[in-house]
Amino acid sequence: MTATHSTRMLILGSGPAGLSAAIYGARAGLAPIVVQGIQPGGQLTTTTDVENYPGFREVIQGPWLMEEMQAQAEHVGAQMMWDTIVEVDLSQRPFRLVGDGGHVYLGDTLVIATGAQAKWLGLDSEQKLRGQGVSACATCDGFFFRGKKVAVIGGGNTAVEEALYLTNHSHDVTLIHRRDSLRAEKILQERLFKHHGIKVLWNTEVAEFVGGEGHQGLCALELRDTRTGELSRLDVDGGFVAIGHHPATELFKGHVDLDEDHYIKVEPGTTRTSVPGVFACGDVMDKIYRQAITAAGTGCMAALDAERFLAEADFEAEAIAAE
Ligand code: NDP
Repeated sequence: MTATHSTRMLILGSGPAGLSAAIYGARAGLAPIVVQGIQPGGQLTTTTDVENYPGFREVIQGPWLMEEMQAQAEHVGAQMMWDTIVEVDLSQRPFRLVGDGGHVYLGDTLVIATGAQAKWLGLDSEQKLRGQGVSACATCDGFFFRGKKVAVIGGGNTAVEEALYLTNHSHDVTLIHRRDSLRAEKILQERLFKHHGIKVLWNTEVAEFVGGEGHQGLCALELRDTRTGELSRLDVDGGFVAIGHHPATELFKGHVDLDEDHYIKVEPGTTRTSVPGVFACGDVMDKIYRQAITAAGTGCMAALDAERFLAEADFEAEAIAAE
């Protein structure tokens, strides 16, 4: 049997952004409902060591952090729902979302926190060595490669920023790009080319990530020249794939404004989307910082923005009723 659930604040997504919005929304008395989606807990549930989330002296585990965040959200009154939304109607309030089993969710406000997924090259060896030398986030994992040889794959802003960032930890950074020119902004390119600790391999792609015999994790990359097909080997301890992300916005195409990279557009300095009463937070609207702590921060902002929106809407409704 299908059910209809109504709330003042409907939250879609249960990573740090969605759960932070839930904690703030619940404490503001909005009794939020969080629809968790296909990856409850979000990207942190697929990582292991987390060393940069404030408040923890020792290394913590990503899945544990998300369990704690969820427990905290439930403790203050948020309700979790395990469902996959397949249909949205944002043309009027309450906003209406429908799950794949037919359950209906009505929200006076909607917080979109569906996140993003890193793009991967799609090699079996890449998946096998993920978390063992292969990563898609230098800011998260670069620290674990202090004094070691690392490579970054990609030619956009993210790849160049990650290569520059990694020079804080490593004196041997290689940027590997499949073409002979970068897509990154000129200013970043200049900083990259000036840096003595970074070399660039042009017209090169990764054919395999190589794990060593008796060696824990990645020890080399097998490279292919994209013009000649010639293979070569580069010894590295860390390989950072930085070829872009897919924001999870498919559901919202045509309902809220997206930018050219398919991220949800928000008014600068807020989480307000093009639809009044719909807010976006976390990686689904942030292609620059993409950290758990920034996602949590924008989740808090979304709850505060939603709370203000409801207060104003209630005030207007009362004024109209009094006329
Ligand atoms: P981009 O899509 O801009 O760049 C992806 C890079 O990866 C490209 O160089 C592309 O190569 C390469 N690539 C894609 N697929 C493959 C593949 N299968 N094999 C090898 N290489 C591949 O992604 P970014 O994450 O860099 O940036 C996304 C957006 O976020 C951009 O709009 C960017 O400007 C923005 N951004 C802004 C920042 C800032 O302002 N500080 C920081 C980070 C991102 P090719 O060039 O050949 O297509």
